[in-house]
Amino acid sequence: MALMGQMMAMPLLISSLIKHAARHAGETEIVSKRVEGDVHRYNWAQAEVRARQLAQALNRLGCRPGDRVGTLAWNGYRHLEIYYGAAGSGLVCHTVNPRLFPEQIAWIVNDARDRVLCFDLNLLPLVEKLAPEMPSIQHFICMTDAAHMPSTTSLPGLLCFETLLDAEDGHYVWPEFDENTACSLCYTSGTTGNPKGALYSHRSTLLHTYASALPDALDCSARDVILPVVPMFHVNAWGLPYSCAMIGCKLVMPGPFLDGQSLYELFETERVTFSAGVPTVWLGLISYVKANGLKFSSFKRTVIGGSACPPALMKTLQDDFGVEVIHAWGMTELSPIGTLSRLSAKQLGLPKEAQQRLLEKQGKAIFGIDMAIADDDGRALPWDGEAFGNLLVRGHWVIDQYYGLTASPLVALDGEPGWFPTGDVATIDADGFMQITDRSKDVIKSGGEWISSIELENIAMAHPDVQEAAVIACTHPKWDERPLLVVTRKPGAALTREAMLEFFEGRIAKWQIPDDVVFVEEIPHTATGKIQKLQLRQRFKDYRLPGI
Ligand code: ADP
Repeated sequence: MALMGQMMAMPLLISSLIKHAARHAGETEIVSKRVEGDVHRYNWAQAEVRARQLAQALNRLGCRPGDRVGTLAWNGYRHLEIYYGAAGSGLVCHTVNPRLFPEQIAWIVNDARDRVLCFDLNLLPLVEKLAPEMPSIQHFICMTDAAHMPSTTSLPGLLCFETLLDAEDGHYVWPEFDENTACSLCYTSGTTGNPKGALYSHRSTLLHTYASALPDALDCSARDVILPVVPMFHVNAWGLPYSCAMIGCKLVMPGPFLDGQSLYELFETERVTFSAGVPTVWLGLISYVKANGLKFSSFKRTVIGGSACPPALMKTLQDDFGVEVIHAWGMTELSPIGTLSRLSAKQLGLPKEAQQRLLEKQGKAIFGIDMAIADDDGRALPWDGEAFGNLLVRGHWVIDQYYGLTASPLVALDGEPGWFPTGDVATIDADGFMQITDRSKDVIKSGGEWISSIELENIAMAHPDVQEAAVIACTHPKWDERPLLVVTRKPGAALTREAMLEFFEGRIAKWQIPDDVVFVEEIPHTATGKIQKLQLRQRFKDYRLPGI
């Protein structure tokens, strides 16, 4: 018989984060730009009281443990309260991306069978349009106060967030339950087919929170003022709403206002020191700051991920603005952080250029994540910085199974099962620095949002003049990647570029429509008849999309 440890067995619960913040950093501010147009300020102690009131309100609406509470909302304090109020009371906070095509939103809400849907005021028209297609929703809650509630709406029994909270006294004790209970749900469309849900547990989230705040990870502290630009519907804003509570720092949320000027003003007025976002948002911010001859007075560090950080962006932030860039790699299936480019004492002894090359890689795995690269037969490849293969991961916050699906996504490495295939292709060097070199999954990442190449190909193929269609990513200075459609016409057909692009209108979100079409005689195929994307990507490597 093993000798058991004799320490308290306190479950790792989301509620403990906000309880801690309220008790130990109660007066530390949370600042939000509201969709209503003004700035809202309060603190962690007040946030916790309101999260408790929300838990009571959700309970009164009939929500029971495990029920999904959907959100369609930007970064703001009410969204934060749903994170804690829902998860803390045993419900599941399901963040839905409002930028998706409406049909996709409805599909995801239906797949998750959300019982409640909370949404920001400016998304009311979208929700009204989708409501008839979301039969599982019993309660629609508009995240605003009574004064801003719409006077007429087609939504049945529309509820007001503030009115619901006002009706509760906040005398609520956060319940204790198994730390493996689900706390939040996030869908990824980063793979083929329909979106898939990653259902995080309280335990996995707490462990991710501990690890991601470490000095060699995001290096967050109570001395920071943190502004997550990354949306709360993108893998829980990379965990920052949790880490900020754990360390008890000031949290600033920009609402839907992500243009350069709005962000700059918020950074300055709130004295933001640390931020996080995909490369595209920094390009917008930097060009505003440069165009107006401005400087940052408090901004010191940012984590950039979601797409490869262009070296030029990293250099500008570092050299021109003194902002340290932490390049990170992660994904929805990883809660999301997997690797970060941080240097050790040994590497700080290297020449500057060698250091820079390392910083540009996606970086080293943090404790809690193990990684490997493998060939197509599942054999491990060497960590020599040269061999590239499928990137596999496993760890405390790596998905084991997709929500509602029975087939296991996991694969074996050298015959040992239990590895998650990321769909990324990478090298790893002898010091453990990983670098993404390609992607085996058929998707394009534009400004941090996915575009499914297969979906675009299916639409193109539905055109009567199209013989075959393939969509590949082309690099784009602003959006990182944009879709290029490669088409073979049916014999005798006279399809034009304009007619082809027009065909996408109304069939997919506008920002997902390919930037350009090239007509070719033939699309290359593998021996098994699959389109050779790699070869196409090679061929159009230097293709200049219109407007660049
Ligand atoms: P996230 O919201 O963190 O971007 P997703 O699940 O939407 O998570 O996307 C994960 C995918 O994005 C990765 O598998 C990879 O293809 C790409 N990605 C994320 N970070 C990086 C990075 N730093 N460099 C290159 N690709 C990245």
